[in-house]
Amino acid sequence: MTENIKEDRKEISQQKSEKFRQYALDYLEARKEVLTGFQLFEKYAEQKERIKSALGASEEQWQDWKWQLANRISNVEMLEKIFPLTDKQKHDFAIIQSKFRWAFTPYFASIIDPVDDNCPVRKQMLPDIREMEMTGVADFSGEEYSSPVDNLVRWYPDRVAVHVTNVCAGFCRHCLRRRKIGEVDQATPADNLEDILQYLRNNREIRDVLLTGGDPFTFQTEWLDRILTALDEIEHIEIKRIGSRVPIVLPQRVDEELCAMLSRHHPLYVNVQVNHPRELTADSARALDLITRAGIPIHNQSVLLRGINDSAVIIKTLNHELLKVRVRPYYLYHCQGTIGIEHFRTPVETGIEILENLRGYTTGLAIPSYIITPSGLGKTPLAPVYQVSSGDGFVLLRNWEGIVYRYDNPGHSGNE
Ligand SMILES: *Cc1c(COP(=O)(O)O)cnc(C)c1O
Repeated sequence: MTENIKEDRKEISQQKSEKFRQYALDYLEARKEVLTGFQLFEKYAEQKERIKSALGASEEQWQDWKWQLANRISNVEMLEKIFPLTDKQKHDFAIIQSKFRWAFTPYFASIIDPVDDNCPVRKQMLPDIREMEMTGVADFSGEEYSSPVDNLVRWYPDRVAVHVTNVCAGFCRHCLRRRKIGEVDQATPADNLEDILQYLRNNREIRDVLLTGGDPFTFQTEWLDRILTALDEIEHIEIKRIGSRVPIVLPQRVDEELCAMLSRHHPLYVNVQVNHPRELTADSARALDLITRAGIPIHNQSVLLRGINDSAVIIKTLNHELLKVRVRPYYLYHCQGTIGIEHFRTPVETGIEILENLRGYTTGLAIPSYIITPSGLGKTPLAPVYQVSSGDGFVLLRNWEGIVYRYDNPGHSGNE
């Protein structure tokens, strides 16, 4: 090789590296605007103390998940003890309460900005009068038409979802199952659970059971242990999954006792829902770490929410922060047309554009599948299109940066 060629190669490599570096610097600049819960540590600590004293709670009570759950902020009287509210807000929140219950833990209140209406955590938990516009349908994903047994939803050949309770540590305003929240907390009755177990025993092709709700981690450890044990006893069930927002909304619930129980039911997976990096705090990181140490892989399912996380820089920051706490981004859901949540919905293209800004710019580990859930039809993945066209013996592709190239297509005429 001549010296000239070697130098050319070095120069080309250096130019390319410089271009890549610039992409990264652009992101680092943009992400300065996106604060994480770790960065807000001191502010959260102050808010916690303020809320504790407003509610007359001791540190011991605060750390007790049962206290947190029993003392969810769920009406205007409680809310105004901790946040300044205008008369209009008080009026609106009371109206909404008559139609859609709202509640969230004092812990989650401590990571909500008390005055900024645009706080991404606030928007997920505090009701909004636009909910009363009542556009959308109660059961948008058609779960009621896919339930051979009450509270068991079957969309697929080999797996089912089971709704084990309607209790949550916080009722997300964008909840797809708000029709089930009702007016009172209600665990799925034991006889209904028995029917579900019987269905699972009778259907040998079911190899994967997803426990969801509501939130299965709001159960007492013993009750969840009993359900998992019953599933373990069904030989053809190969894996179990738990969908929970508790590590994020009620991290106090995740303790050694719970994790020791969970670790007796492998193979077990946990899926959480984190929508904004502000939800990742010292407390939620501790909870996620305990679960991971119990040998349970954790995946994240975000919902794409207008005005909350509908930008590439927020999703990229979120996914980077998740990987740092060993949580793998799994799904990014397009917000579906459930009743009263129209104001959270983005155009479908927003999600595709976000994925376009992830692929290549960051690791595939940080890239979730973007999912639409049409009525009763399961999950449909959407993605940017990388195949531009095809011809005789070749496909025309583009790379993540938009560079178009020809790639031969083995096994097609033209290259035989
Ligand atoms: C989401 C879901 C599943 C699980 O889907 P995966 O793609 O396997 O994660 C299974 N059943 C129902 C009803 C679901 O909504």
